[in-house]
Amino acid sequence: MAHPTGTPAPTQRNMQEPERVVHQTLNYELGKMFRGSRSKDISFKPGPAPIAPAPMVEPDDMVIVASPCHEYEPIKVPEAHLAHLYCLICGSEFAV
Ligand SMILES: [Zn+2]
Repeated sequence: MAHPTGTPAPTQRNMQEPERVVHQTLNYELGKMFRGSRSKDISFKPGPAPIAPAPMVEPDDMVIVASPCHEYEPIKVPEAHLAHLYCLICGSEFAV
């Protein structure tokens, strides 16, 4: 029986490593790098993994309307409440 030669098995590396793993690997490499350096002034402390900010989610039923009296101060209201709106500045009622 002949053994196949010259063809190493393909490495099964995870193609979708989580960002945290990448960050930890970076921390490890940086720490190794700084430990190996002769400089006493530089130190490296691994930080926490970055937390991705939550995506801005705005409800679709909000509308921005400007009051007729003070239109530089628009208000944001649900679409269902367009009948009775009050100016933020003077409080006068208006409708769109
Ligand atoms: Zn007003």
